[in-house]
Amino acid sequence: MNAKLGIPVSEGKINLGEAVPLPAPFLIWMEPSRFCNIKCKFCPNPKMDNSTKSFMPDKIFERILSDIKGLAATPKVVRFCGVGESLMHPKIVDMIKAVHDNKAAENILMYTNGTLLKPELNRKIVDAGLTKIYISVNALNDDDYFDITGVRINFENYVNNIRDLYENRKQLKIYVKINHLAVPTKEQQQLFYDTFGDISDNINIEGISHIFPEFYSFGERRGMVRYHNDESKKYQICATCFKTLNINCDGTVSPCTVDWAHKVIVGDIKEESLNDIWNGEKLRQLHKRFCLGTIGKDEACYDCEDYFVSDHENIDAYAEEILRRL
Ligand code: SF4
Ligand code: SF4
Repeated sequence: MNAKLGIPVSEGKINLGEAVPLPAPFLIWMEPSRFCNIKCKFCPNPKMDNSTKSFMPDKIFERILSDIKGLAATPKVVRFCGVGESLMHPKIVDMIKAVHDNKAAENILMYTNGTLLKPELNRKIVDAGLTKIYISVNALNDDDYFDITGVRINFENYVNNIRDLYENRKQLKIYVKINHLAVPTKEQQQLFYDTFGDISDNINIEGISHIFPEFYSFGERRGMVRYHNDESKKYQICATCFKTLNINCDGTVSPCTVDWAHKVIVGDIKEESLNDIWNGEKLRQLHKRFCLGTIGKDEACYDCEDYFVSDHENIDAYAEEILRRL
C-alpha cells in the first residue's frame, strides 16, 4: 500500500492557544450545495427540510471572494464542504478556479462522497487548482452501498473513477476514508486498504460518532468513540470556532459545518462583511462562553461531539488567558 495511514496533516498548524484571537479566520469553509445525491443513514441531510436546500448563488460566492480580500490575513484554507455534495453544484469547477485565480487561500480543499467523479470532471477539478480532496467511501460493494446510502452505484466504476483521479492528480492530494461501522471485520478492513491503498495519498478508517448536535442517527446516543486510535475526551473549548468561518449556501455564517440545524449563526454575508462577522460581537460572546465554560444546555454547541472526537486542538489550558485577550 502506497498511501500513508491516517488523517493527513492539517495545513498551517499553529499554537492556537497562544495565537487567538486570530486577526482573520485560518479556514474558510463554504457550502456550494446543500443538495446531496445520496442519503447516508448517519447524516441529517436526508431529513432536512427540502425548502432549505439550494446551490450557493453566484452573488454569495462572489461576495465571499471579495470579502476574503478584506480580511486582515489570507486564509490558509478554503474548503468546499457543508451538509451536501459539493460536486453537484453546476459551477463547482469555476468556483475552484476562482478561489485559485484570486489567491483567496493557500490551499483549496473539498469533501465529497466521490460518486460524481468521472474522468472528464476529474481533469477539470485538478486543472482548476484543487489541492486536496477528502473522499468519504460508504461501503465496499454495490449492495452494502445501497443499504447505507439508499442509492445504487456500480462500485467497480466508483473505484475506477477514483483511480483515474489518482493517476491524473498532479498537485492534488487524495485522502480516502471510510467509517468504522462500514468495515466491522478485519477482512473488510483489509479489503478497504487493498482497494484504495494504492490509489490514494492518505487512507484511514475513521470512528464515526454523533458529531451532529441533536441528531442521533443510531437511535440512542452512543458513548464517545475512539477517533484516529486516540482516547477521546471532552474538551471545554471548541477550537474550531476560534479559527474557522463557515458560509452556508444561503449566506448565513456559522463557525462550523456540523451545526446542520443552523442554530449557531454568527452573521450573514448578505448583510455584513466577513471581516465584521469575524470580529463581531456574536462570535466574541460564543468564544467567551467557551472560555468561561458557560455554554448553555439549550445551545447546539453543548450537544456537539465533533470538536472533541476530531483531531482538534485542546486549548482548555489557555481559557483564562484567552478570556483576557478577547
Ligand atoms: S454524509 Fe455527505 S454524502 Fe452522505 S448524505 Fe450527508 S451530505 Fe450526503
Ligand atoms: S461546538 Fe460544535 S457546533 Fe459549536 S462551534 Fe464547535 S464544532 Fe460547531
